[in-house]
Amino acid sequence: MAAVSIKQLTKVYANGFQALAGVDLQIQEGDFFALLGPNGAGKSTLIGILSTLVNKSAGQVEVFGHDLDTDPAGLKRCLGVVPQEFNFSVFEHCFDILVTQAGYYGVKASIAKERAEECLIQLGLWDKRDTAARMLSGGMKRRLMIARALMHQPRLLILDEPTAGVDIELRRSTWDFLAELNRKGTTIILTTHYLEEAEHLCRHLAIINHGHIVRNASMKSLLKEL
Ligand code: ADP
Ligand code: ADP
Repeated sequence: MAAVSIKQLTKVYANGFQALAGVDLQIQEGDFFALLGPNGAGKSTLIGILSTLVNKSAGQVEVFGHDLDTDPAGLKRCLGVVPQEFNFSVFEHCFDILVTQAGYYGVKASIAKERAEECLIQLGLWDKRDTAARMLSGGMKRRLMIARALMHQPRLLILDEPTAGVDIELRRSTWDFLAELNRKGTTIILTTHYLEEAEHLCRHLAIINHGHIVRNASMKSLLKEL
C-alpha cells in the first residue's frame, strides 16, 4: 500500500504566488523518503498540506488510503508531524506535554504515561521530564517535538528540517533514532536542504525546485550519477 499518494497537487497562496505546480508523488509504506530542495522550493508548503495545516488549491492527497478531502480525521490519525519551529506551551513540563498530546488522540492516561517515559528515555530527555519546555536547549526542544509527534504511534512521521541548527553530535544521535524507528516499521518523510542528511538516512528522494518535482529516484541511483 502507498503511504502517501499525491496527484497534481497545486498551491497558489492568497497573494497569487504559486508554491506548488502540479506535484505527483508516491511514497511506499516503510520507506525513508527525503524531500530535498533549496529554500523557497515548496517543501514546507507540501508538508503543510499533507499535515492539514495549509489548504491546497487543487489536486488529490491520500495517506494510507485516507483522502484529505473526504477523510481528514483518518488521515491525521496516521501521521505525526515535527514542525521546523518550536511551538510548545513554554511553561508546561516535558512529561506533561507528551501526556497531554496523547490525550488529544484518545490514548488512555496509563498508556500515555508509559509511552511518554519510553520516548523521553529513547530521546535522551528523561532527566528533563520535570523541566519546563522553555528551559531546554534548541536540540532538546527538537527532540521533544519528535517525542510529541510519536505519542499516538503514527504510521507516518513527517519532519521538516529535523536537524537544522542542531550540532553535529546531536545530529548523529537524532539520525540514529530515526533510522531505528524506520527499521521498526514507521514510514518517514523528511525535508532537508542538506544532501548529506538525505544520503545518510533515506532510501528514496525527490528534488523539488520552484514548486516542481525535478527528480525522483532511489538514493543509490542518484549517487551513481553524482
Ligand atoms: P492560505 O492561502 O493557505 O490561506 P495565506 O496566503 O492567507 O495562506 O497566508 C497564510 C499566512 O502566511 C499569512 O499569515 C501570511 O502573512 C503568511 N505569509 C504571507 N506571505 C508569506 C511568505 N512569503 N512566506 C511565509 N509566510 C507568508
Ligand atoms: P521551502 O520549505 O522549500 O523553503 P516554502 O514551501 O516555505 O519553501 O515556500 C515556497 C514559496 O512559497 C516561497 O517562495 C515562499 O516565500 C512562498 N510562501 C510560503 N508561504 C506563503 C504564504 N503564506 N503566502 C505567500 N507565499 C508564501
